[in-house]
Amino acid sequence: NAGSVSFLQHIVHPISVARLVMEHTPHVMLSGKGALEFALANGFEKKNLLTEKSRKAWKEWRVESKYKYEINSENHDTIGMLAVDDKGGISGACTTSGLAFKMHGRVGDSPIIGAGLYVDNEVGGAVATGLGELVMRTVGSFLVVELMRSGHSPQEACRLAIERIADKIPASQKGAQVGYLAVNKSGETGAYAIRKGFNYALTHKEDDTFLDADHLVQD
Ligand code: ASP
Repeated sequence: NAGSVSFLQHIVHPISVARLVMEHTPHVMLSGKGALEFALANGFEKKNLLTEKSRKAWKEWRVESKYKYEINSENHDTIGMLAVDDKGGISGACTTSGLAFKMHGRVGDSPIIGAGLYVDNEVGGAVATGLGELVMRTVGSFLVVELMRSGHSPQEACRLAIERIADKIPASQKGAQVGYLAVNKSGETGAYAIRKGFNYALTHKEDDTFLDADHLVQD
């Protein structure tokens, strides 16, 4: 099962709206005005989410208004989660405020099933963070799951999917960051990023650890 929302403005927790799309509609994805109407009809409140800090940053950006990619190891903010329950059932979630200073209407990888998130309960799940254009062009999370289906460990699958991006990365996006997390049906996990700075939390029943992912570019 899958559900997602994109271009949904004014809602504090869009991920909860995405879940309702999955659970209570015949669709997989709602977008823009329709997603907002659906959220409001289901009890979500419309709020102004613009902070003073963001308004100020936007005003400064407007002086030049350049649509350039600014996702590197310092500023990506997508949260991806994968979970395995005690019966081995796998679920995943992915939520983001998206790229800043983008063109109006730009949608990133996070709400695209197969790009930002993909789970196949027979195999495993994967989530992505970083520059969505690179993830979408390689259908990243789907690729990670398919690599696990063909026998790769979650760690190898994440590395191979990052190498796929690195092979095709346009020169203008050479500094960009992408990171993948993956889990398979046996509960093995993997994490790999283009560059340094991608870290993740791993929680078992008894312990929690915070780890740095391996990365491709050593700079
Ligand atoms: N993946 C997100 C996007 O491209 C950005 C992020 O990871 O912060 O919209």
